[in-house]
Amino acid sequence: MITLGLEEKNEILSEVNRRSGANVLECYQCGKCVSTCPVSNYMDYPPRETMQMIKLGLKNELLMANSSWFCLTCSACSGRCPREIDIPAVMEAIRHIAIEENYINDSKKVKEIRKFHEIFLDMVKRYGRNYELRMMAEFNIRTRNLFKDMHLAPKALLKGKIPLGVKPMKSAKAIQRMYKLAEKLDKKHL
Ligand code: SF4
Ligand code: SF4
Repeated sequence: MITLGLEEKNEILSEVNRRSGANVLECYQCGKCVSTCPVSNYMDYPPRETMQMIKLGLKNELLMANSSWFCLTCSACSGRCPREIDIPAVMEAIRHIAIEENYINDSKKVKEIRKFHEIFLDMVKRYGRNYELRMMAEFNIRTRNLFKDMHLAPKALLKGKIPLGVKPMKSAKAIQRMYKLAEKLDKKHL
């Protein structure tokens, strides 16, 4: 089949397709995803261009771009895609490959987003859920922006929007086991 032939020669295409379960070759460049995406203006390559770059095998450019990091996983694009391509899953696959292969986008925003991801996952691993107050504090410390949004804290606390403590979920232990298993599987596939 032509599709298989293209995938064999295009490492990033086959890897993104494998991880996302999508078939990027199905994209016919209509641009509906771009017109729907709320953050396409901020991306180095909006979703339509990202699809085309995958098809062309432009691995370095893709993995260094901010596009996959700026993706909100909102699925607005895939909801309108006439080819029903799971674009957020494609973006996620690109992020994972970039992390595993140590591609580092040096922009401040991307670095902050990466830290936010790490801290959020760490919270879920520890408590089985997010702990907003701690997450905000850790984010500010790790991005060296100690007083960021501090003026909002008293109001949010008084209104009970941010709880002071966190009660770990009953399923926290099971979630920790899932993390361990996922880490083991990751190592196996590296
Ligand atoms: S909406 Fe779907 S088919 Fe159209 S450009 Fe975007 S990914 Fe490709
Ligand atoms: S899922 Fe990502 S690429 Fe798609 S519309 Fe949302 S932000 Fe844009």
